[in-house]
Amino acid sequence: MLEVLRSGQLSLGPKLAEFERLFAARVAAPHASAVSSGTAGLHLALRAVGVEDGDEVVTSPFSFVASANAVLYERARPVFADIDPVTLNLDPQAAEAAITSRTKAILPVHIFGYPADMPALEAIAQRQGLAIVEDACEALGAKHADGTAVGARGNPAVFGFYANKQLTTGEGGMVTLGEKTMKERIDSERNQGRALDMGWLDHDRLGFNYRLSDIACALGIVQLGRLEEMLAARARVAGLYREALTGIEGLELPCADEGGNVRGWFVFVVQVPHGVDRDAVVRTLAASGIQSKPYLPAIHLMSFYRARFGHREGEFPVCEDIAARSLALPFFPEMSEGQVTRVAQVLRGAIGR
Ligand SMILES: *Cc1c(COP(=O)(O)O)cnc(C)c1O
Repeated sequence: MLEVLRSGQLSLGPKLAEFERLFAARVAAPHASAVSSGTAGLHLALRAVGVEDGDEVVTSPFSFVASANAVLYERARPVFADIDPVTLNLDPQAAEAAITSRTKAILPVHIFGYPADMPALEAIAQRQGLAIVEDACEALGAKHADGTAVGARGNPAVFGFYANKQLTTGEGGMVTLGEKTMKERIDSERNQGRALDMGWLDHDRLGFNYRLSDIACALGIVQLGRLEEMLAARARVAGLYREALTGIEGLELPCADEGGNVRGWFVFVVQVPHGVDRDAVVRTLAASGIQSKPYLPAIHLMSFYRARFGHREGEFPVCEDIAARSLALPFFPEMSEGQVTRVAQVLRGAIGR
């Protein structure tokens, strides 16, 4: 970072291209475009696959709100479909049932770092002539059953580098891509629509300021070098939690890796047993100095989405049941065994109460 500061080229400099190249290599994707946030990446990826005013995009209601908001930026409509109760990812059958003549794309989210069922979703997309954009903002380090990394399937896949993600640049994001023409479009649109081969002020299309500074890219390059270590540290903490939380009746832990899929650990989210007041558990944990959060709330039941689209309870029962019981526990790479044990003890007591 000091090197960048001393160089005087703080943006659109050599660290940008270097970060993109190294990130693409890490995921084994042909191309990558760095952007100012995961949300910005989702916006540009949706534009790159041709999502426009009036289109529909089938997506998960169990996600961080950014994945649905990005669809609205283009005046397209996020059409939600329910999730799988085990993986908590978009259920391919439900997604297919939500497709209409206006559907342009499917936007699966690899929630909590667990790979969505891409083979099934890709088969649907191919049959129906739809594009796919992957929200991989929580899934750096995740792998599909065939051994490929999440983000390497050729669909635009978007990663986020906010402070809580596996890799951070403070704020930032990356879109991995299979097609060079899509990279060119995204590179132009993140920079006010500036043509890549023309002078400063010739802007031949609409664009945005979604650039990632070279200072941030330098940070990202160093973080990338430590990625394996950081992922392993998160996996270690997850393993400790799994052990410490066994035998609490009705408590649901993050699903184990199945059929060759590998989770890239991002958060440790449990669902409290049916009949237990999740918000009371949050308060009990807080009284012992332990932060936790209801995570995630269902997007379609947020006030803005209710008001805009008239969503109601009962539309996506699996998502709503999971969202009502979900609890994110303290989770960070340096977490000690003693800290995990203490959280587990207090949680056990709170649930038993
Ligand atoms: C973090 C996140 C985003 C957005 O990333 P930002 O960098 O904060 O814009 C989008 N989708 C999901 C699922 C996320 O977790």
